[in-house]
Amino acid sequence: SNTLMAGKRGLIMGLANDKSIAWGIARSCAEAGAELAFSYQGDALKKRVAPLAAQLGSDIVLPCDVADMNSIDQLFTSLSEHWDGLDFVVHAIGFSDKSELRGRYVDTSRDNFLMTMDISVYSFTAVMQRAEKMMGPDSAALTLTYYGAEQVMPHYNVMGVAKAALEASVKYMAEDLGKDGIRVNAISAGPIRTLAASGIGDFRYILKWNELNSPLRRNVTIDDVGRSALYLLSDLGSGVTGETLHVDAGYHVVGMKAVDAPDI
Ligand code: NAD
Repeated sequence: SNTLMAGKRGLIMGLANDKSIAWGIARSCAEAGAELAFSYQGDALKKRVAPLAAQLGSDIVLPCDVADMNSIDQLFTSLSEHWDGLDFVVHAIGFSDKSELRGRYVDTSRDNFLMTMDISVYSFTAVMQRAEKMMGPDSAALTLTYYGAEQVMPHYNVMGVAKAALEASVKYMAEDLGKDGIRVNAISAGPIRTLAASGIGDFRYILKWNELNSPLRRNVTIDDVGRSALYLLSDLGSGVTGETLHVDAGYHVVGMKAVDAPDI
């Protein structure tokens, strides 16, 4: 435990259960002394999120469906009744119809394309429009992306296109909000077994491939992501904005892994 986040207040969006990447990030921020608020997607998730929030000493647990702009407005209205300021925001939200997270990208429907972009990309921008009003200098926002934004990964399809747009939106918001001392970054996490990931075709194979081919020869955990999030959200990251930090056991640097037998 440390005091990196002492006196800082943060909103965590995208907690579904104790496998969620948002949970790894929330835990590392709380251990470092942050005070937290949580948003949850729908009534079904409230009973999961409230006890997890309580474990980290938080009783600010607010509904927000990011597909509904009124719901995002309501979240920030409620949050401002609890807090007069906000030091950090974590956006760990993504969604696409799982029938399109398999097969060919080229077969993506217009409806699912727009829905995926709305929930996985625009929502971060919509949240920052509102969060900005509560944030002062030395504050930070973080979203979650994946390597499928940069290179073609099996089955990632429309979500890869959405993550590329999300990473671009991080850069544009870094510029817009940087003048007010608000930093905006992304973590590109390696594959982790979560609820959202279970919708992706052949996910077990992707996990195994990363384990065998990444420089660290393992998959990352939500704690690995949490520790790097702490760097970007705390004053340790004070000079960093517009960045996508890979927390993927180094997978993104490998063009081809060497075979173990050197004289093949
Ligand atoms: P998760 O299922 O635990 O979290 C996804 C969250 O998105 C859930 O809490 C869900 O309620 C929320 N969400 C979906 N639609 C929403 C809506 N309309 N309104 C509000 N919330 C909504 O899975 P996760 O893997 O922890 O996902 C978090 C983020 O990390 C996502 O952006 C995901 O794309 C990204 N990511 C995941 C992996 C991985 O392998 N798990 C790798 C890289 C990036």
